Amino acid sequence: MLGSLEKRILSVLHKERKINAREIYQALKEEGMAITYVTVNTVLSRLYKRGLVNRTKEPFRGTFRYTYEYKDIEDELITSLLGDVDILFGKDGIDHLKMKLDAKKDQEIADAEEKGILVSNSIPSPNMRIKLSRNDAQNSIIKKVENISEQNISACYQCGKCSAGCPMVTLMDLLPNQIIRLVQLGQINDVLKSKTIWLCASCFACTARCPKGVDLAKVMEALRLLLLRKSTNYVEPSKLDIDENLPQIALVSNFRKMTG
Ligand code: SF4
Ligand code: SF4
Repeated sequence: MLGSLEKRILSVLHKERKINAREIYQALKEEGMAITYVTVNTVLSRLYKRGLVNRTKEPFRGTFRYTYEYKDIEDELITSLLGDVDILFGKDGIDHLKMKLDAKKDQEIADAEEKGILVSNSIPSPNMRIKLSRNDAQNSIIKKVENISEQNISACYQCGKCSAGCPMVTLMDLLPNQIIRLVQLGQINDVLKSKTIWLCASCFACTARCPKGVDLAKVMEALRLLLLRKSTNYVEPSKLDIDENLPQIALVSNFRKMTG
């Protein structure tokens, strides 16, 4: 089993690949860890003796020093982590943790729904299934979105930088990069049903981050327009229960975005 310091050192090595003890010591200090150089050296020797890191001797100021190199030890680490889980939670440790994580996720969804900030519970999932046909992928609606937004939808190569920088992402049912992927695949109905296009705050963070120059904020606007042009308002002004402390600008900007 690996101790917490051993894991921290291995994570530095994993990032840097090849590094000497003093540099590891400095990296840990910068992370705010209270540690001595001697301790780092001792732990590194222990890791080396256990065959978990590679070590080479190099001449240094008339003497020598060791340089440590990351070794592919994923299997050992997984075994060690599973060992930790077993010790903490017993033989059914993994199931126990999974149940706790599921319960936490359910609670977060319930809280968001209660506050009215999440209506759908279709959480983005890597296992999301899409039934795709040639007609979908050549859908004229893709051209329409491109025309309204003046963006080249197919330029997106799904790096995910837009989603990583989006301030609204925790509330969205589809991530910004998933929206553009679905548009590329002609799955426009899924996109138009999503809360994401309305939750988008038009902050342009995604636009600034996109390495392919896709202005995703404009794509979101184009998608909203597709619905608004069918006279489908997302908010109905006459039915709003308005808090008198709400800043006027919040109303004005929301009406601009959410009404036709
Ligand atoms: S940042 Fe740009 S290229 Fe990357 S996923 Fe988002 S839209 Fe696509
Ligand atoms: S413009 Fe919309 S999608 Fe893009 S980062 Fe801002 S909130 Fe997210």
